[in-house]
Amino acid sequence: MTSETMLTPEQAQQIVLAHVRSLGLERVALLDALGRILGVDVHASYDNPPHDNSSMDGYAVRYEDIANATPEQPAVVEMIEDIPAGKVGEKTVGKAQASRIMTGAPVPAGIDTVIRVEDTRADGSRIEILDPDELGANIRRRGEDMKEGELLIRTGVELGPGEVGVLASVQRTFVPVFRRPTVTILSTGDELVELEEPLEPGKIVNSNTASLAAMALAHGAVPVMLPTAPDDLHEIRRAVETALAGDFVVCSGGVSVGEYDFVKNVLDEMGAETILWRVAMKPGKPLFFCKVHGTPFFGLPGNPVSSLVSFLQFVRPAIRKASGHRSDDLLLPTARARMENSVSNQGDRRTYLRARLRFEDGWLHADTAYREQNSHILTSMLGANGIVILEIEQDVKPGDEVAVQIIGDVF
Ligand code: AMP
Ligand code: MG
Repeated sequence: MTSETMLTPEQAQQIVLAHVRSLGLERVALLDALGRILGVDVHASYDNPPHDNSSMDGYAVRYEDIANATPEQPAVVEMIEDIPAGKVGEKTVGKAQASRIMTGAPVPAGIDTVIRVEDTRADGSRIEILDPDELGANIRRRGEDMKEGELLIRTGVELGPGEVGVLASVQRTFVPVFRRPTVTILSTGDELVELEEPLEPGKIVNSNTASLAAMALAHGAVPVMLPTAPDDLHEIRRAVETALAGDFVVCSGGVSVGEYDFVKNVLDEMGAETILWRVAMKPGKPLFFCKVHGTPFFGLPGNPVSSLVSFLQFVRPAIRKASGHRSDDLLLPTARARMENSVSNQGDRRTYLRARLRFEDGWLHADTAYREQNSHILTSMLGANGIVILEIEQDVKPGDEVAVQIIGDVF
């Protein structure tokens, strides 16, 4: 099969996404909603602030009484009431009168301005205003933050600390959020040993189950790690049947030519129809996607880096769609960066290079030379917070701009 007949990564992403639905909702306690995806539109249930209130400790006055005050010729008002935060003033401020008011307290009837305590001098209830500030000063208006009925947070928004605060302010103790998809992770291969098993000659340690589970967890899903399945039809069938308990199955290894047929035969036997197979990208060409009894099933390449790159391109968007993220927020964020090293793509597929990204002088800089870029070099994922995308025949030198995907925090 030539690269012309393979799907582009974009086509493959759209095909995968077309087969994924968002899951149902569950109600969680407010703080457990952090990092979750809101399942309903949330509106303001009242005006906030609920009342005009003072933004300073000071004196609530009628501006016309104090408009001409100066430090040399202060305006004199009589303090008639003390209004601490949480209390509503009982008296109406009349001519040449004032109420002492604390930050956040409702402004009393009759007043239009609050003078900061720093701009006054007090002698018992006799208050000298030294600076008139301006009409309306230091008053926060009712509804300035939110108006009753206003749409505050839309369905599909990931809830951060600010959103939790706004939900608290509209008195939501429980919040409907999208259910987190479960992802069962299955690695296949006779060469694999588990983490606690001795590394016999000819064997390698199964790192994919852990790294893919960590990916699933990092991107909002609940991973379920299955025991490694040997390259055996019967065992693979049993493992796949168990794996179908998840909302998604991610299977690593055995999809490139060779053992691919084991997994494929099992899936055929189970009546699964291949939805896509092979994508024009490096690493990650042998991508397999089908539905088994309605459950989306990803067959990722076995090479440790390939499986992670493929996960980020195809499984992550599927998890995000199932988790209720908005349709314009499913793919990895992209940016432009300046290369720090030379690199070229002489192959016949788009190349995804692990990169370390950092900010300097307002620019994003990308380094792809800190480690070998081969799909078995798992250590190239250490500190990788980006992926540089090189199109076919693209050559870049230090200082050239490239497209990057952001896969981790950038500092
Ligand atoms: P496969 O896709 O099964 O042909 O595997 C491709 C390469 O990835 C081989 O070198 C495998 O040994 C390696 N590999 C497959 N599965 C895993 C795994 N779970 N952990 C680490 N390496 C793996
Ligand atoms: Mg294998």
